Amino acid sequence: MSDEQKLLQTISHLETQIRMLESDLIHDSLTGLRTRTFLEEELNIYLSAIYAAADSGRREWFGFKNLSMLFFDIDNFKQKNDMYGHEAGDRILRIIAQTITKNTREGDTVARWGGEEIVAVILGANEADAKQKAESIRQKVEALAFESFPDLKVTVSVGVAHASLKMTCEHLVKNADKAMYRAKETGKNKVVAYSELGE
Ligand code: GH3
Ligand code: MG
Ligand code: MG
Repeated sequence: MSDEQKLLQTISHLETQIRMLESDLIHDSLTGLRTRTFLEEELNIYLSAIYAAADSGRREWFGFKNLSMLFFDIDNFKQKNDMYGHEAGDRILRIIAQTITKNTREGDTVARWGGEEIVAVILGANEADAKQKAESIRQKVEALAFESFPDLKVTVSVGVAHASLKMTCEHLVKNADKAMYRAKETGKNKVVAYSELGE
């Protein structure tokens, strides 16, 4: 192989590696969902576009004027891992990820926020719409059946928050997370909206 061919091969390998790293920034390898980094970037773009449209009096300029967040956390997941094994735990996580994705729309974004936390950003939904969607997904997760473990039941607690004007991604996540915690504190396997916290 000539020096020139070797150089071209090295460049080609480097390009492949860069593409893989770029893909890792966007896609979570376990669940196939988007990553937290991707969701944060995209959400901040959406939020500023909505506000720019609102400021110029064209609230629907971006195609939608409402945006809500659903924050899912698997209930007692540590116990599931302990009882059924870590591999089964991974499978549960993937199946829940699929259930959420299947029940959201094409333009919505579903991302793995942390270990067993999944965030969905849904477009065109006010808080009531988002709560309804979250409740429907909660029921679907509760109804899941696992062939290898007939007695396994999995549930999720969900916090819902609606983006109001001038809210950042961080603020919206904080509200959805607080609502999710209230769902945990009050018995788990339920949906709580931020407005119900009375803050
Ligand atoms: P809670 O109902 O309060 O949410 O209880 P929990 O057990 O779900 O919460 P805790 O935060 O105590 O434990 C989360 C567990 O999630 C611990 C960790 O083993 C598990 N977990 C996090 N990421 C993964 C993963 O990628 N795969 C598997 N199998 N388990 C994970
Ligand atoms: Mg958690
Ligand atoms: Mg949990």
